[in-house]
Amino acid sequence: MSDLKSHIREVPDFPKPGISFKDITPLLADPKVFAEVTRQLADPFRGKVDGVVGIESRGFIFGAPVALALGVGFHLIRKPGKLPSETHAITYDLEYGSDTLEIHKDAFAPGSRVLMVDDLLATGGTARAAIELLGKLEVEVVTAAFVIELTALPGRKILEPVPVLSLIGYDD
Ligand code: AMP
Repeated sequence: MSDLKSHIREVPDFPKPGISFKDITPLLADPKVFAEVTRQLADPFRGKVDGVVGIESRGFIFGAPVALALGVGFHLIRKPGKLPSETHAITYDLEYGSDTLEIHKDAFAPGSRVLMVDDLLATGGTARAAIELLGKLEVEVVTAAFVIELTALPGRKILEPVPVLSLIGYDD
């Protein structure tokens, strides 16, 4: 398999000056690469998790095929007001303002072993909030798995003690 990084497009100054946006659309457009990424995210967890949860929205793109590869259910952590049944919610601080994530109360039984998936780990704020939200369901977050990690940021540290798996690192 060719270098995964060559299938990520770096777009400078998007969505605002100073941000180097990691665009995953070239990776998704190549079925061999998309399948390889799915395999690499799923393989370490075969027989080791009861379910996968993806964080809206790019976590859905990678989480769903990972759940299928593992033969376990796929569940959603969504922005507020999107999930139709009873939810738990968590509100967390952003650089400016705050954001909220929700999960269905019946997504997982207490004690379930859960693999959490998102596309990219930056500051870790989103994933930290998602882990706290999963805590309300009393599940065990086995690993937080990402396609991309911005290694110059403290995301991995912020998620401790939950282990982090990432496939591609950028130090800018
Ligand atoms: P954070 O909460 O800072 O870890 O940010 C995580 C979310 O923001 C991820 O789900 C990404 O979708 C998005 N994100 C943050 N930084 C970037 C970036 N440089 N390129 C693409 N997406 C990003």
